[in-house]
Order: sequence, then structure tokens, then C-alpha cells
Amino acid sequence: MKIIKLGLALALAVTVAACQKPVANVDGARIAAADTNAEWVSYGKGYSEQRFSPLDKISTANVGQLGLAWYAQFDTDRGQEATPLVVDGVLYTTTAWSKVYAYDAATGKPKWSYDPKVDGAKGFDACCDVVNRGVAVWKGKVYVGALDGRLIALDAETGKPVWSVQTTDPKKPFTITGAPRVVKDKVLIGNSGAEYGVRGYITAYDAATGKQVWRFYTIPNPTGAADGAASDKVLREKGQSTWPEGAWKLVGGGGTVWDAIVYDPALDMIYFGVDNGTPWNQEQRSGGKGDNLFVSSIVAVKADTGEYVWHYQVNPGESWDYSAVQPMILADLTIGGAPRKVLMQAPKNGFFYVIDRTNGKLLSAKNFVPVTWATSIDIATGRPVENPAARYGKDVELQMPAPLGAHNWHPMAFSPKTGLVYIPAQQMPFAFQNDPSFAYKPGGWNLGVNLLANAAPMTADQTKALAAQIKGSLIAWDPVNQKAVWTVQRPYFWNAGVLATGGGLVFQGAAEGQVYAYDATNGKQLWSYPTGNGVIAPPMTYEVNGDQYVALMVGSGGGGQVSAPSLLPTRPRLPGRLLVFKLGATAKAPDFVLPAQPEIDLSKVTTNGDPKHGYVVFNNNCQVCHGANATGSWLPDLKRSPLITTPADFNSVVMEGVKAHNGMVSFSRFLKPQDVEDVRAFLVGQGKGDPLPGATTVAAK
Ligand code: CA
Repeated sequence: MKIIKLGLALALAVTVAACQKPVANVDGARIAAADTNAEWVSYGKGYSEQRFSPLDKISTANVGQLGLAWYAQFDTDRGQEATPLVVDGVLYTTTAWSKVYAYDAATGKPKWSYDPKVDGAKGFDACCDVVNRGVAVWKGKVYVGALDGRLIALDAETGKPVWSVQTTDPKKPFTITGAPRVVKDKVLIGNSGAEYGVRGYITAYDAATGKQVWRFYTIPNPTGAADGAASDKVLREKGQSTWPEGAWKLVGGGGTVWDAIVYDPALDMIYFGVDNGTPWNQEQRSGGKGDNLFVSSIVAVKADTGEYVWHYQVNPGESWDYSAVQPMILADLTIGGAPRKVLMQAPKNGFFYVIDRTNGKLLSAKNFVPVTWATSIDIATGRPVENPAARYGKDVELQMPAPLGAHNWHPMAFSPKTGLVYIPAQQMPFAFQNDPSFAYKPGGWNLGVNLLANAAPMTADQTKALAAQIKGSLIAWDPVNQKAVWTVQRPYFWNAGVLATGGGLVFQGAAEGQVYAYDATNGKQLWSYPTGNGVIAPPMTYEVNGDQYVALMVGSGGGGQVSAPSLLPTRPRLPGRLLVFKLGATAKAPDFVLPAQPEIDLSKVTTNGDPKHGYVVFNNNCQVCHGANATGSWLPDLKRSPLITTPADFNSVVMEGVKAHNGMVSFSRFLKPQDVEDVRAFLVGQGKGDPLPGATTVAAK
């Protein structure tokens, strides 16, 4: 009887297992297959992150009939950078503040949402907005990296947390904005913070339990000690000797891994990009000497252990925030008549690199926008031929690209059909000058660069000449011959990521609020749609029940919007949206309700502060979020803020931190009471239309 019962139970269990399709059953084979099939189950689609979908129901012939199928509106008006994933008819995406949402991908019906409830004060540690680039899905779980450094595994069916692990020291200014990737049952996640002063690393966690498997530090331990990490051997043998004495020992050295992670299953290698050094200025960081490995490098490691295999450093002794953490694409190209397994990257420094991913050897490099810091990259040595003037000192050096990069985090796409890489490119000069008074400021920006050099008052003609140099473009780049095939010029510099499809199309959103479809072969515009808000996120495409959809997160933000709002369309912060398109659809999202601009009368406002000193303090402490010279209009435009009308109100925010929940923490550790009144005097003056106070020296008060 017992045996029969057991047999019955077993049969029942087997039947139940056969009937219940496992939810979100993504594994390595499925992600690898997504490199060529229609699925989009990892951040860049499959492991090679080409962002090319073979789907061709939406094509050059019919894209004009594309309309809105459904949309979702979110509860945050900060930047939206996520790439949605679609697994078995469920769309997973994230918003600013690391919130996760799941929808029926055909109808838009919400399935669940998850809010990790990140403390708003953590926003202060995010250089480039409180954004999140998306989730990973693996064997029934959804993984998100939260802004506060947690890596969280959710049940894909319910959205309920399964495990959570703190991947960073919460006392340090680390953040996470990037999407996790999963390789061989290990979740890979890095972090950000190289502007503030942290030491970067990437970690692999067991996908089932959250237990750490390996960690790779990108720069040596400043104490000289071993970390007990996968990187110990290579940092001892190759790293340490490239780091002479300098501020890096105090500041942490930077080298964060905040975005690009790709995997080649055939070679079993993981490739990740490494951020700039801290402070930016190599003179301050390491006495102007040394390559400073692995800052601004692409590093290849073994998937199982994190053991070093090779590296390629795009900027030895980097000094300009030229990170190599920009999206990377793996492809097989025929170069010089021979098939090559390549890794392609267009990092911030403006050159397009084609690297042999089996051994890290540079195959070719060419600038895709005008650059002034180097004339070329020496193929034999792999090192740039730098313009000596680029190593700035006491004189102001106007250089291209700017720290925002010739290409930033916005994903590019590669179409095997056209053989072209579609690059969301940008051009902007930046004035570099040594900050001789640089001293480590715990928790603040630590650059060693005089930011005031970029805030100097300009004549109308100078302003016009500068504006003419600031551009955005979508460049169709031939990676074999290293040349542009077509270019679409953009009115603004900070645009969106890119999607290429088998229908012969390239999709890209733009700062002005449109999303466009172009003919992939010649750049001819075939469709556009007004989203009503700025777009920075990349579109993706998927198929459900025989229909092809294009999905896109909408919402301006990110580093360009936060730091240079005066160069972008004047638009209030609006709630983020997910827009999903298909052929013949006619849904409409309601117009955005524009928040009212607060009325502010400064005519009777007086201060005893010194606006000239306030200008210096403002640009050294506030401009990163509120715009150089208080021209900001995205994060609160302080010269129009009612808070500046009384010293007490202004002080309550700046020194007492009453808006810490919004990310505006107390600046009492950086400012003296008189500094605050001086800043208020500067803001009141700017609000009244006063000319910019001239200032030539770095704040040393
Ligand atoms: Ca950086």
C-alpha cells in the first residue's frame, strides 16, 4: 500500500511538473541563442550585445504604419535608461530609483512591481542621476542592482524578493546604475562612484543564493595588501608598478565597472569595461606618471574564476574622465580576408576600437568624431599618439571630447545585415585646468580639475562659437574600413541608445522628444513619433502572438541632462513612460501635465552675501546638479527657487538637509555659513538678471 501511494505521488508530481511551464526559464543556452534568434532576454539582447533583432515584420516598407499599442506611466520624473527584456510574453523593465515592473508584453496589463525603497539621500552619491539600466532574468528569477549597492533577486512570477546582498560598503559613495548580467549561474554586477573617490570592482554572485563567487578589483589596494580576490595576482604582477605615489591612495583610484559586461560562451571569457581614475587629473592622482592599470581599460577574465586573461587600455595614464566602460559589442568580422572574433567599443575618448577578443590585440582604431587629445592610435603598440598639450597644467586647455564623452552609456547597435555599427555620438569641448588647491573631499567630487575654467563669463560671440561646437549625431560606422557610411545630425548632444532590426531599420529616440526610424542602409528617416518628453533609453523589439512590437522607455535625465541642462531643450521634469508600438495600432497616451513654474518675486529680496564669492562656491559645489553658473532648469533651477528669498529657508535645505529625501543632502561638511549666504547672494543676483560676476581663482576660502 505504501509503495503504491508513493508511486501515485511520484506520478502526480511528474504530471504537475509537466503541466506547469517554468516561469522565466532563461539559461546560458537561451541567452546565447538570443544573439541570432528573435528573443531579447539579456541587457544587450544576447551575450554578444549586438542589439540587432532579425524580426522583420516591421520594415522599411511599412514602418510608417507604426502606432502606439500600449503604454505605462511611472511615478518618477528622473531619467529613464532601461532596456526592457521580454521572456515568454512578459516584459520586465526598471525605472529611476531602481524600481522593477513586469507587464503582459502583448496587452500592457501590469503583472507586478517591486520598489527596493532606496533612501533618497543616496541620490547625492549618484554623479549622473538616479537611473537604472535594467534587469537580468535567469531560471525563474529577476535581478536588479539597486542604487544603494544592493543586488536583489526577485521571484519572476510574483516580484517578491528571494535574496538580497549588499555589494558595496554603504559608508562609501558607491552606487549601482547598470544592469546585471548572468553567466554560468553567476550574477555579475559592478558599481559607480569614480568621481567621488571609490575603488572599483566587479563581483560574481551565485544566482541561486547570492553567495559571492569571485571579485575582481580594477586597481591595486592602496595599502599594498592582497584582497584575497581573483585580481590579486595580476595586480601584483602588472598593476602595482603602474601606480606611483599620489592622491589615489587617499581617494581610492576609481576604475569602477558601471556598465559594459559581455560574455563569449565559445571562449568562456567575460569582458568588462573600466571607468576613469580618481581624481581625474593624473598629475594629482599619481604624480603624472604610470599607466594606472586597469583604469580606462577593457579587461578579459575567465567566467568561472574571474582570473585575468588579457586587458587593453584605451587611455594609459587617463586624465580626462575618458572611461572605457561604454557598451561593447562582440561580432565575427572578415578583416583583411580573414575571419576575426572581435570586440568593438566606442569609448568616451572618440576613437572606435576593433580588438581581437581572443587575445586583446588591437586590430584597428579610428576617431568617429573630431578629437584634439590624440592624433591616432599606434596599432603596433596599441597606445594613443597623444597631443602633448592634452596633459593640461596651469593653463586652460580646451579639448574634445568633453568628460561626457564622444559616446557615453547610450547603447550602440551592430547589424550583421548591413555590417554597420550605429553609434549615438556627441561632440562637446571642455576646458581642462589643474586645480592646484586640490585636497581630498570625502563624499564630494574629487577631480583635481578646476571646474571654474568651464564657468568663466563669455562674450555673446564666444557663447555662439562654443554652442556651434556642441552637437549630437547618429553615425553609421563601417567597423572593417573604419569610416562613417552615413550620419544624421541632431540638434542636441544628449540623445538615446539605438536598435537595429532585420526589417532594415535603425530606431533611436532623441533629446527633442521624438523617436525616429531610419533606413539602416542610408539613414533616410522613415518614421517619427512625438513622445512629449526627452528620450535617452534604447528601444528594443520583440514578438508575441505573431505581432512584432518596439518598446522604449521615455524620460530625460542622466549625466548630460543633469550637468548641462542649458544645452538641452527647456522642459520640466515629467513622469517616465514606457511606450510600446506595433503596426496599425492607434492607442494614445494623454498629453503630459506640465508642472506650474513657481512664481517668485526677488525685487524686495536683499542679502549681505558676496555674490562674487558665491559664484565660485556655487560652481565648485552645486553646478554638477544645478548647472554651471546657475543656468540649470532640470534639477531645481535655484535662481527661480522660492527658497532663496530668505536666508533661513535656503539654509534649511543647504545646511540642515530638509530635502535629503530628494537627494539634496546637507552640505554642512563642505560649506561654511557665510559660503551659503554668498551662494544665495549669487543666485538672487542671477534671478534678477545681474551679469555673471567675474572670477578667476579657485575657491580657497
Ligand atoms: Ca566618470
